[in-house]
Amino acid sequence: MDLDKLERIIDTTVHKGEEEAEKSLRPHRFEDYTGQEEIKKNLKIFIEAAKKRSEPLDHLLFYGPPGLGKTTLAGIIANEMGVNIKITTGPAIERPGDIAAVLNNLSEGDVLFIDEIHRLNRQVEEILYPAMEDYAIDIMIGKGPAAKALRIDLPKFTLIGATTRVGMLSAPLRDRFGMVNHLEFYKEDELAGIALRSAKTLGVDIDEEGALEIARRSRGTPRLTNRLLKRCRDFATVMFDGKITKEAACYALNALKVDPCGLDVMDRRLLLTLMDTFGGGPVGLETLAASIGEDVGTVEDVCEPYLMQQGFLQRTPRGRVVTPKCLAYFHRSAPGSGDQITLE
Ligand code: ADP
Repeated sequence: MDLDKLERIIDTTVHKGEEEAEKSLRPHRFEDYTGQEEIKKNLKIFIEAAKKRSEPLDHLLFYGPPGLGKTTLAGIIANEMGVNIKITTGPAIERPGDIAAVLNNLSEGDVLFIDEIHRLNRQVEEILYPAMEDYAIDIMIGKGPAAKALRIDLPKFTLIGATTRVGMLSAPLRDRFGMVNHLEFYKEDELAGIALRSAKTLGVDIDEEGALEIARRSRGTPRLTNRLLKRCRDFATVMFDGKITKEAACYALNALKVDPCGLDVMDRRLLLTLMDTFGGGPVGLETLAASIGEDVGTVEDVCEPYLMQQGFLQRTPRGRVVTPKCLAYFHRSAPGSGDQITLE
């Protein structure tokens, strides 16, 4: 089996055919949404206050790596507010007319969720400013000196934006959100809880140790917990009497080349290239990405946040560098010692 040719198992974007499974496992209420306690606590207050005043909720921005539950939270908010949610993405809205049509089709109180909001173009953003502030859009009729602006009122709505790159959002857009929330990676026990809950929904037999092993290797991301759970179920069905125990989970995850820290083939290639080819760094992001044959966006959004959070990698003004923890993990006394990594 050539693992490099497989879809990257711990890639945190949605894989082909996974949409339906994601939907079935997506929590619909705050009670079922594990973790992110601070954000949940604040949201509950804002929702209650908005409901008491019979007003729509203020616009919200969620940012953080993919798979941490931004879309899920938007759905829960709409649910709790008792309104509809319309979901779209930044790249799907190409022209000012597209966003005007989306806004015009909303009903009073609706939630409009825009994923990858940092990818909206400038003209579309400009339509959004008055829409967010005054619930209105300005449309130009005619051209040249005779052109006139026509203001169209919109229903009061809540915009929820999600992004993996808050730094790429323009300041005027960012400033128009009433609440900006950073989603954190999840703790092991939280992910184990998610694995147990998903197993119940899917009818998968699993014990706590098995759930913990999956959690440990899910790089802090619920989407991966659910994906690894399903892959472990396959191994358990064929080789371990159907139950995901610690032994079954370890076997499956090792076979899938996800190591005990949640690093996969690509993470290891990145760190090994950084140590062997570039003497541990510093090296620029583009050079590093090109050396491992990945695009810059994937390295920056998907790989690096977890490697940095785990203390394997640092971003410095001069480029990426490995840390002493990384050298120790790969059994290297110094960069370039050529040691091989082993999976437990
Ligand atoms: P994002 O929008 O940040 O990429 P999603 O909201 O699509 O992430 O979440 C991916 C999957 O992970 C969802 O289908 C859901 O099943 C699961 N998930 C995310 N956050 C949680 C959570 N806090 N509790 C339980 N499941 C979660």
